[in-house]
This record gives sequence, C-alpha cells and structure tokens, in this order.
Amino acid sequence: MNKHHQILIVGGGSGGLMTASKMKLERPSIDVAVIEPSEKHIYQPAWTLVGANTFDYEKTIRKEADVMPKGVIWIKDLALTFEPKKNEVPLGSGKKVTYDYLILSPGIQIDLDGIEGLKEKMGKKWSLQQLCRSQIHLAMH
Ligand SMILES: Cc1cc2nc3c(=O)[nH]c(=O)nc-3n(C[C@H](O)[C@H](O)[C@H](O)COP(=O)(O)OP(=O)(O)OC[C@H]3O[C@@H](n4cnc5c(N)ncnc54)[C@H](O)[C@@H]3O)c2cc1C
Repeated sequence: MNKHHQILIVGGGSGGLMTASKMKLERPSIDVAVIEPSEKHIYQPAWTLVGANTFDYEKTIRKEADVMPKGVIWIKDLALTFEPKKNEVPLGSGKKVTYDYLILSPGIQIDLDGIEGLKEKMGKKWSLQQLCRSQIHLAMH
C-alpha cells in the first residue's frame, strides 16, 4: 500500500532525526515520516571522541527505534531514487511514498577521486564508514 506524508525525510541519521524532532516540537500535529532501512542508529558526531579514546565506540550505536522522535513515522525501507515531478519516492520494497515536502539527509560518501592522487595514496576506495572505522582504529591502536 502506498502512503502520503506532509514531510518525508530520507535518512534517519543524526541530521534526519534532528530535523524530524524539531518539526514535531514546533508543530506537533504535523505528519512527518522518515525513510531509514537500518535498525541501528550510529551517532557519528561522537566518533571524534572515540578517536581520541575518550568515548566508547559501542555507545555510539543505538536501536533506531529507541531514537526515533515520538509521533514520527518510521518507514523501514530504502529510498531507491526520486521522482520530484510526481512528489514520489520509490522504495526498495517496491512500494512508493508521496509527499508535500521532501528533506534529504542520507549522509555522505567520501569521493577520493576529488583530490588528485589521494586514491592511489589510500590504496583503494573506501566508504565513509570504513574510513571512519580505520581512523578510529588508528587512533586507538
Ligand atoms: C570521524 C567523524 C568524526 C566526526 N566528529 C564530529 C564531531 O565531533 N562533532 C560533530 O558535530 N560532527 C561530527 N562529525 C560529523 C557528523 O557525524 C555528521 O555531521 C552527521 O552524522 C551527519 O548526519 P546525517 O544524518 O546527515 O548523516 P548520517 O549520520 O551518515 O546518516 C545518514 C542516514 O541515511 C541513511 N541512508 C543512506 N542512504 C539512504 C537511502 N537511500 N534511503 C534511506 N536511508 C538512507 C543511512 O542508513 C544513515 O542512517 C563527525 C563525522 C565523522 C565521520
């Protein structure tokens, strides 16, 4: 069954959830839904502290359900692409969600090709998470 929401947020990381939370606080009746496939929420802002060995990495991981703001609908699915002319987001499950307003907060992926020679220096193309984990690993060992 396809659904419609006033506000549709792609990504239930710190950015997406903070935006959803602020909106519900400002206007409790507003209909906000977050598309997030992962059951784990990773609080990346604390990773600097983890790298400095002053915060436990495991404590940066929480259940997504526990941090989803009250009254916000969690669509546990993947945004496959965007159909802005139809105000529609097709999902990995084959369903579609329509919206009045769309907010994108899917995080970033480091592009090592952006800096000439960096990829060769790094040896391979890493995902942001791999890069962070390696930073943390290097800092801790
Ligand atoms: C090593 C490191 C140290 C940092 N230190 C600090 C710090 O000290 N202080 C600070 O303020 N910030 C810090 N940051 C930055 C902070 O982590 C980011 O600003 C913040 O996590 C960004 O939140 P976000 O929600 O935009 O992205 P993310 O937290 O990356 O969340 C993105 C979410 O989108 C989901 N997603 C991705 N694609 C899709 C899709 N197609 N469909 C649905 N969902 C999708 C992902 O599953 C993820 O849950 C640090 C970052 C790193 C890497």
